[in-house]
Amino acid sequence: QELLGRIDRLDGQLNSFITVTADHALAAADHADQCRAKGEAGPLTGAPIALKDIFCTKGVKTTCGSKMLDSFVAPYDATVVEKLQAAGAVSLGKTNMDEFAMGSSNETSFYGAVKNPWDLNAVPGGSSGGSAAAVAAGLVPAAMGTDTGGSIRQPAAYCGITGLKPTYGRVSRYGMIAYASSLDQGGPMARSAEDCALLMNAIAGHDSRDSTSIARGVPNYSEELSAPLAGLKIGLPKEYFGEGLAADVGNAIQDAIKVFEGLGATVREVSLPHTSYAIPAYYVIAPAEASSNLSRYDGVRFGHRCENPTDLIDLYKRTRAEGFGEEVKRRILIGTHTLSEGFFDAYYKKAQQVRRLIHQDFLDAFEEVDVLMGPATPTPAFDLGAKKDPVSMYLQDIYTIAINLAGIPGISVPAGFSNGRPVGLQILGTHFAEARLLNVAHQFQ
Ligand code: GLN
Repeated sequence: QELLGRIDRLDGQLNSFITVTADHALAAADHADQCRAKGEAGPLTGAPIALKDIFCTKGVKTTCGSKMLDSFVAPYDATVVEKLQAAGAVSLGKTNMDEFAMGSSNETSFYGAVKNPWDLNAVPGGSSGGSAAAVAAGLVPAAMGTDTGGSIRQPAAYCGITGLKPTYGRVSRYGMIAYASSLDQGGPMARSAEDCALLMNAIAGHDSRDSTSIARGVPNYSEELSAPLAGLKIGLPKEYFGEGLAADVGNAIQDAIKVFEGLGATVREVSLPHTSYAIPAYYVIAPAEASSNLSRYDGVRFGHRCENPTDLIDLYKRTRAEGFGEEVKRRILIGTHTLSEGFFDAYYKKAQQVRRLIHQDFLDAFEEVDVLMGPATPTPAFDLGAKKDPVSMYLQDIYTIAINLAGIPGISVPAGFSNGRPVGLQILGTHFAEARLLNVAHQFQ
């Protein structure tokens, strides 16, 4: 009730929720009270959370930030939703996001931009900007986000919270609306690594309904939080400290590194030589996969349908023209172009080869160091409306996107401020190093 009241009072300004499920939440909270009374409570029993509106929820609208799905109600819950419910978490609702998770500022949402609670003129980041803003404003202590090319870590950095993108395949994608299937991964966003660990304990694990989910034991992510960092080998990728990095952000990251040295870690420079190819490769691969995934929105099977179609082609054309926003259309056009005969080898195949090299850069680096550290973003949150040109928006993803191409985990943790706007420190580990990342982040916090 306390948090629903806060949402009522504050979310008119922030716009972080698309749907608030007050009745569901109060009923679930009552149930949690009963569990507690019976001595059956776990760590998440009664814990209020929010879900990015990309996770399907039975009986509650799932819009993915798009007019296309404005009235879509899924007939089932995503695995992540089921697991959080089973752990006793209470969802207060569905958070705003860039349309189909395409964006870095939350400005592409059909439901309007989200504002950054630290400064209402600033973007919260995207695409999980609603989740980040809701946590930062204290509307919920934790929320689920998804990260295809930075969409958990970048908004976490801009809003001064902690956000973890797990290893690809660690958390089930079943019921998570697909953007770019080889990159998409759900993960927790919260005020601390400790809280992210609690969510990970609930959501990680194999799911036979997601063929890319990995059958591998799930550690207790809370257990290793207190392990000392003496002897930890930290690598600083020199490509993450070059041109384009705002001086204030660079300084905040250097200060954070000193804290780790004080905790007994050693620091050395490393190189990820193919870094500059990550954005071009991603913006071929992600739109290609998106153009294929979004072909299902045809006015027949899901969501919006145009009025009075004259024939099937007219139905497809007008439904998609009306239902999708500008950025989504741009991605579909790029994707269908790069996948078309005659261009496939030059763009898509080449991008996949570059992806392999980027992956190898990380594997080589993790031969030498335990974790990599650097800024999550080149600048703090920018002003709403400041980035009109799509390419300048895509460049925001410079430090986050290669991680998805490699499938490795990454976490962004708050590391000071630049002109009153939060700065995020990004910590990267090899595949399945989530427990280590949470431990390193926790020691810093
Ligand atoms: N900004 C990137 C994009 O627009 C990443 C989005 C994401 O991770 N969902 O594709």
